[in-house]
Amino acid sequence: MSIKIESKITAYEVAKPEDEAAKKESNVASIAPLLERDEVLVGSTYKIKTPHSEHAMYITINDVIVNQGEANEHRRPFEIFINTKNMEHFMWIVTLTRIISAIFRKGGDITFLVEELKAVFDPRGGYYKKGGKYMPSIVAEIGEVIQKHLVSIGMMEGQLQTEELIAKRIEAEEKLGKDGVANASQCDKCSAMAVVRLDNCNCCLECGDSKCG
Ligand SMILES: [Zn+2]
Repeated sequence: MSIKIESKITAYEVAKPEDEAAKKESNVASIAPLLERDEVLVGSTYKIKTPHSEHAMYITINDVIVNQGEANEHRRPFEIFINTKNMEHFMWIVTLTRIISAIFRKGGDITFLVEELKAVFDPRGGYYKKGGKYMPSIVAEIGEVIQKHLVSIGMMEGQLQTEELIAKRIEAEEKLGKDGVANASQCDKCSAMAVVRLDNCNCCLECGDSKCG
């Protein structure tokens, strides 16, 4: 920062480090404070079992209640833990959960985490979950669990429910049958196995992405 000095310099003083620190502190105050942990947190534990490992993973997400008792009371995730007997994944799981928990505690919008994680693919290949949904990696499935949790506490919308998409889902089932919909291909945008061919367009029944021609 530079200041134009208009009058004659008659004296000067070297700024003390304390003054500089005080200035920095006043800037920090404008950032939202970190969330504080209550003694007891409410949470949910989700189980995922992938064909890539013998043991299941248990994902626990604990929430804090913000503005308790006020009109704008809401829950937000505060920490995530992943437990598994599978030691092969131990190091990256510890890393991932610490970083995700740190982002949760920062406050602000955290929904971007879901898209980031869901976009991770495993170079060894993904897998199909029960019910036929394709998962490009274990990390993507962890992203899906976080999404499920955020939807359940009202921080995120679930499967898009626009009128247009609902109509498309009904149309797809009528024209292609249940088998046709179950054999849908993978969407470039959201990775769901939900792309079907309707009226000369490839349409994703999950996110609505559409390519015609
Ligand atoms: Zn899609």
